[in-house]
Amino acid sequence: MSLARLIGGFVRRHWPAYVSSAFMLAGVAICTVLIPRKVGALIDGLAAHSLDGRALLLGLAQLLGLGLAIYVLRVGWRIRLYSAAYNLGVELRTRLYARLSAQGPGFYQRQRTGDLMALATNDIDAIEMAAGEAMLAGFDGTLTLVIVIGIMTLGVDARLAGVALLPFPLMAFAFWRISTQVHHAEADALKRFSSLNDHVQESLSGVRTLRALGLESRSASQFSELAGNAANASLNAQRWEAAYEPAVGLTLTAATGLTLGLGGYLVWNGELTVGDLTSFTMYLGQLIWPMFAAGWVLSLIERGRAGLNRLQPLLDAPLTVEDTGTLASIGRGALAVDRVTFAYHEAEKPALDGVSVTVEPGQTLGLVGPTGAGKSTLLRVLLRQATPQSGMVTWAGQPLTAYRLEALRSAMSWVPQESFLFSATIAENIALARPGASRLDVEEAAKMASIHDDILRFPYGYDTPVGEKGITLSGGQRQRVAIARALLADSALLLLDDALSAVDTGTETRILEHLDELRAARPERAAIIASHRLSAVAGADRIVVLRDGRITESGTHDELLALDGWYASQWRYQQLEASIDAD
Ligand code: ADP
Repeated sequence: MSLARLIGGFVRRHWPAYVSSAFMLAGVAICTVLIPRKVGALIDGLAAHSLDGRALLLGLAQLLGLGLAIYVLRVGWRIRLYSAAYNLGVELRTRLYARLSAQGPGFYQRQRTGDLMALATNDIDAIEMAAGEAMLAGFDGTLTLVIVIGIMTLGVDARLAGVALLPFPLMAFAFWRISTQVHHAEADALKRFSSLNDHVQESLSGVRTLRALGLESRSASQFSELAGNAANASLNAQRWEAAYEPAVGLTLTAATGLTLGLGGYLVWNGELTVGDLTSFTMYLGQLIWPMFAAGWVLSLIERGRAGLNRLQPLLDAPLTVEDTGTLASIGRGALAVDRVTFAYHEAEKPALDGVSVTVEPGQTLGLVGPTGAGKSTLLRVLLRQATPQSGMVTWAGQPLTAYRLEALRSAMSWVPQESFLFSATIAENIALARPGASRLDVEEAAKMASIHDDILRFPYGYDTPVGEKGITLSGGQRQRVAIARALLADSALLLLDDALSAVDTGTETRILEHLDELRAARPERAAIIASHRLSAVAGADRIVVLRDGRITESGTHDELLALDGWYASQWRYQQLEASIDAD
């Protein structure tokens, strides 16, 4: 969509705001041109001694009234227009946000967070400016230009206007050149500032690594170079901005010189009054704004267009996960993975290679195997974060793609190894999956996840803020909060991806016992527990061992021990390790 169509459509929907703003602007323009006329008439009256005290006071009161009217109308149109233009920003941001929320992980692997942030702020601001400021400045500038030139030519003296206006096109040209340069310089400054931002963000996130590798001074010198570049770019933009005033000064001086030369001659000849000459000189000053507006509007539109060019591809980006399913709820039935093969990149060895496994309602499936075996990938396939190249996943007899994504998301609770806590209270973080949950429900879930007692020891209990602005939780506490969140959601399928890796074995056992209790109360709930620690899955109804993307062993804990394969040897090793730790 072009910028003109986007703005055109928006103006049509919000036409009352634009029309009333335009009327108010026309009022401003008329009041503005009346002032020099009034001043000219007063001067002529004074010069001719035809003005008495009362008439003078009345004239001054009229001038004051015009000034006040301009003030009120200016405030009025700005409020009217900006509230409309901000709506366009809100609309675009909402569309962008909805699109971004619907994108899968594949999309985010290709996009930098900094770029997305810049789009949601600077680029949408630029479009908003083009729809608001530029539209009205264009209208206002043109209107002022026509009225002022009209009144100079018809109301004062056409010959004088013809001569005095000669320097003005040069001013418009200079403004256009300068504002383009300012824009380039500002864009450059913004880009440099964004690399500075990226550097700060990366260094702060990786500050421990930087220290561990002794790279602080290198990072600091990179920072100072980037900061220097950003400052120079800003200075460059300021240098160009400084060129505006001399351009105004030069043009006005030239125009005033021409006006006084020819105007003086006309006054001397008796063809023009001193009052007319005064109002004419005042009109010259009023022409600065239309000239400035011309250059400014062009550059605003250019920026808006550039912003839209960057935004449009993101709004149009195909969703990495298509949400074309129609089924809104999932019936009762098994979740069946049938010969699924998935590779992250086409040429690479697949992360899952012909995997088949079934989970019946009420069952717990244990998923074990060495790091990189494909456990997380299998869960991602179930979550539809990854689309298999071949094979199929069905749930209650229907392929996963037949369900609406929303239906799948509410039927599955996923606890990744590293789960995210938002800057909110601990209760809000747990209640995330069920915003309407009561405090009692939240506490119940926290007890099931064995985090309740820890929470009571926090400064404000469940109302303690966590995340960036709150207290820092240990890895194990974070995992248990995430488990509480998932349990509160009470979905048909619970997916734990090494979600107990940071809690000690005693707590792990307690949480697993609680999970068993929960399942006894709701026999149709199923769970898949992926873990590198075998104790987390020993009680599962069935355990599969994944190695290099293939299932190599499968059965109950006892069956797998009897098989004496990878599982059995890993079990003996981990038991030994645990007994050494316990000593
Ligand atoms: P596990 O959970 O068993 O440790 P994963 O499912 O994380 O194993 O990884 C399986 C394989 O896929 C590994 O070889 C890993 O390097 C690769 N892999 C995992 N995530 C990605 C990714 N986002 N992009 C490319 N390869 C990946």
